Amino acid sequence: KKITIAIDGFSSTGKSTLAKQIAKTLGYAYVDTGAMYRAVTLYAMQNGFIDEFEFNKTALINNLSEIHLQFQFNPALGFAEIYLNGVNVEKQIRSLEVSNFVSQVAEVSEVRAMLVRQQQQMGKDKGVVMDGRDIGTVVFPDAELKVFMTASPDVRAQRRFDELTEKGQLVSYDRVLENVLQRDYIDTHREDSPLVKAQDAIEIDNSQLTREQQFQKVLDLVNN
Ligand code: C5P
Repeated sequence: KKITIAIDGFSSTGKSTLAKQIAKTLGYAYVDTGAMYRAVTLYAMQNGFIDEFEFNKTALINNLSEIHLQFQFNPALGFAEIYLNGVNVEKQIRSLEVSNFVSQVAEVSEVRAMLVRQQQQMGKDKGVVMDGRDIGTVVFPDAELKVFMTASPDVRAQRRFDELTEKGQLVSYDRVLENVLQRDYIDTHREDSPLVKAQDAIEIDNSQLTREQQFQKVLDLVNN
């Protein structure tokens, strides 16, 4: 019987890598909800609603109906890529610039309401692995399996740094660590759906775990 798997936790804890691997193994759909918040942020940047000097929330809220998000499976990659108004933005949404603004956009209740609704629609038939911050608490409080991932900030910053450097982005470790800490703070302190572990979620601290060990752990949870 197909179930719903919610994978929540702090940024750069390797949620998406794990979620993709689990989805692939079970033949489930994988939904990266962070990509949706990132795409809305990119839209806000492209339209001049957000930059380092100001965030025009009202303009973004008034234009939410202009934002059309879509996931399209890419067989070569083995997962779905996100499209913003018909354009594949999978690469653009991973930049440090988007990362720097995304938590502010994710604080906006109207944005959350729209994306939560879309996520519930995408997962309505079960057989889905969804990763995010509020999946086990808000999007699917009845999910059969909830995992909450944590790791120390320096381990997470190092992972993010390696990932960005690998992609050829010029960043400093300190800037990445700053971003990780800043996002933790905003995500855990926002008024609407702050990042918290659902009571019935199983916490995995992966500071010291290999990818394989985490994968096995979650797979055992699915099978038991
Ligand atoms: O998972 P990822 O790091 O790509 O998410 C980017 C940001 O989007 C998070 O830092 C958080 O502010 C926001 N987010 C959220 N709720 C989700 C997924 C992401 O608020 N379900």
